[in-house]
Amino acid sequence: MKFTVMKMKTSRIPTLAPARLGACLAATLTLAGTALLAEDCPPHWLGHDRTRPLPPVVDPGQPSREDQVGKAPSDAVVLFDGTDVSKWVAMDGKPTKWRIHDGALECVPGSGYARTLQCFGECQLHVEFATPNPPHGSSQGRGNSGVFFGMGRYEIQVLDSYNNKTYADGSCGSVYNQYPPLVNASRPPGQWQTYDILWTPPKFDADGKLLSAAHVTVLHNGVLIQNNVKLIGQTDWLVRAPYHAHPEKLPIALQDHGNPVRYRNLWVRELDGGKPEFYLPDSVLDSYCGNYDNCQVSRRDGNLLVHFGGQEFVMFAQSPTHFFSKVVDVQAEFDPQGAIRVSVGEDGGGWAKKK
Ligand code: MG
Repeated sequence: MKFTVMKMKTSRIPTLAPARLGACLAATLTLAGTALLAEDCPPHWLGHDRTRPLPPVVDPGQPSREDQVGKAPSDAVVLFDGTDVSKWVAMDGKPTKWRIHDGALECVPGSGYARTLQCFGECQLHVEFATPNPPHGSSQGRGNSGVFFGMGRYEIQVLDSYNNKTYADGSCGSVYNQYPPLVNASRPPGQWQTYDILWTPPKFDADGKLLSAAHVTVLHNGVLIQNNVKLIGQTDWLVRAPYHAHPEKLPIALQDHGNPVRYRNLWVRELDGGKPEFYLPDSVLDSYCGNYDNCQVSRRDGNLLVHFGGQEFVMFAQSPTHFFSKVVDVQAEFDPQGAIRVSVGEDGGGWAKKK
């Protein structure tokens, strides 16, 4: 069992039920005046507690074979199933120019990155990719693409690293410019390969100060190649860029590096709960901005700001027309006629026209 050295926080103890308090204290050891508290204590469950909720049942799906695409777990968001590219757009929110070819989502060189419409924070991402066969180019010029978290900020390199030497921290499976993969588990070009990625995004406080760094674990073709490594910042070329504050949930992107790398069977499982969030095009957000009879709406990056009741609320998109605050239960709905309805809790409010 893992223990954390910490000072006793007596203010937390009175909130525990007596039985749970006993379990908690039983897990507390005193060593030379220092309290050791089991990290698993905070949920306050007894060992073998019969009232503890059982895990949800999930159909695990099926893994892919070279000639047969697998099936995603039943609780996954399927990002690409071989036929539908509607969950992908260009970075500016316009339709992506990547093409569907023979059941794969293929990078069209020069078309730019493709990103998801939906935003993701802590997640499990499954990716299958194949680099071009026959291979062209060498080093970073052969089968280069990438899986990005944070809307283009943090790259897990995709590269044809089969008999293709390049710098270690740019190899297939590297956290680009930071961590080489532990091993090179690449398959030959043209064959389908898998990434299974556990992503923990960085967290920032309200002033933009980094609270915790991003971490990532990657399995390449089932082989562990990144073991919960701690990112030092963004993964740029030539420079070791620091972190810059951003929302915890942002789109996942696939890199256009000039090579027609193919992808299939893309799915993601959200691990941090919450409502689905979408990163809408600036043009859509801007169309909502203006003065209404009961509020004002403006935009800051990918969020709307609603000024209502003397307060400012940062609003996140749950759909192209519905937005919510993460601080107070304030929601905003827009209709095609240019009206807004702001609701607070159960108070639905009425439609207000744009001035
Ligand atoms: Mg790349």
